[in-house]
Amino acid sequence: MTLDPVLARIDQNMPDAVDRLFDLLRIKSISTDPAFNADVDRAAEWLVSELQSIGIEAEKRPTTGHPMVVGHVDGPGPHLLFYGHYDVQPVDPLELWDRDPFDPALEDTDAGQVIRARGASDDKGQLMTFVEACRAWKAVHGALPCKITFLFEGEEESGSPSLVPFLKENAEELSCDIALICDTGLFESAVPAITTMLRGLLGEDFTITGPSRDLHSGMYGGIAMNPIRVLSKILAGLHDETGAVTLPGFYDDVPELPDHIRAQWQGLNFDHATYLGDVGLKSPAGELDRTPLEQIWSRPTCDVNGIWGGYTGDGFKTVLPSQASAKLSFRLVGQQDPDKIRDAFRSYLEGQLPEGFTVEYRTEKGSAASQMSIEDPSFEKAREALSDEWPRPAAYVGCGGSIPIAGFFKDMLDMDSMLIGFGRDDDQIHSPNEKYDMESFHKGTRSWARILAALSQ
Ligand SMILES: [Zn+2]
Repeated sequence: MTLDPVLARIDQNMPDAVDRLFDLLRIKSISTDPAFNADVDRAAEWLVSELQSIGIEAEKRPTTGHPMVVGHVDGPGPHLLFYGHYDVQPVDPLELWDRDPFDPALEDTDAGQVIRARGASDDKGQLMTFVEACRAWKAVHGALPCKITFLFEGEEESGSPSLVPFLKENAEELSCDIALICDTGLFESAVPAITTMLRGLLGEDFTITGPSRDLHSGMYGGIAMNPIRVLSKILAGLHDETGAVTLPGFYDDVPELPDHIRAQWQGLNFDHATYLGDVGLKSPAGELDRTPLEQIWSRPTCDVNGIWGGYTGDGFKTVLPSQASAKLSFRLVGQQDPDKIRDAFRSYLEGQLPEGFTVEYRTEKGSAASQMSIEDPSFEKAREALSDEWPRPAAYVGCGGSIPIAGFFKDMLDMDSMLIGFGRDDDQIHSPNEKYDMESFHKGTRSWARILAALSQ
């Protein structure tokens, strides 16, 4: 099955594809607000009939929350799972929108034509790039080039409460060779990206207690150990002067970046001065011997997110507090085990506590990093297919945050994910005046057609 007529078909049918996307964008599928439950359901129905219209067996599947849309189409070659979400974020503050968020429109901007509406980029526009690519394959060749399972979620923007139970209950049906997730962005407007590393997260929230009650610094100052002073010393000791985390064994399970990935990242010419300058900073704070991109994507971190204790109200109080508290988080990479890191932190902390002090933890469950096995040849096939479509070669990139769905697919369905998306940093997802570039929609659709061709070979 040849690719060129499929690409030509996509080009010809762009106006119809935009109309279809607009139909979906008009549905107010705000998942977090029960007032829109019927709209969320209608978006699911709309997608079912959309998939059916291109010959895919699809149905709405109930959960205890909003429905999942699941579709299957048989074919040769590998079995792919495509994931996207059809719910959107709330739109308020409405007065900051230049138009009705659910009345999509094409707008000409200095940077080209954009589709303006809530969900245009996150994630309806992105989801439809894949559906439209499938539609073109089907129209030209009468069939899709490989076996595909579709999974559209309606609760991604409200914490995905039904996702894990749904994956568990339907593990056999949904386990494929590889997952394609379209909910991320380009590295920059000319450079597509496949996200292959997602950092994990561990939170630690604790209170240390020294004296049994708050004390007067005139009576006890000098003789009583102040918990804030103890806490400050503990937190200050977590990093050394090179920016490295000092916990014993912290870097044991952190892999070195492979040379070819390091070379790719150098080729991306990441402008850390602008990245930091945009938020009023001048120099990177991570490990001195690591590049800024490594610091964000492939190195673990430790950060203090909150710290409190003593008197913080108006005026002044000469208190020597009984307690001091902090919240910390660790971004994890490679094979770092959240439990092992937690143990390392706690034994460091407890080793620093003066005699008689106690500590109380409020535990949150940690999550390990996800690292895709890019040695699987399908990654390189997809990367080449993307590179054929865009002005500059596609890169394997990391993601400093976490994208839970990729971890769930790995843990519960034993399946790696390719996170490929065409969003841009200025899409204003979750904010007023969300947009998706026409170029992203058009080239994104063509990219999927190319990727389907490449993966089915
Ligand atoms: Zn999203």
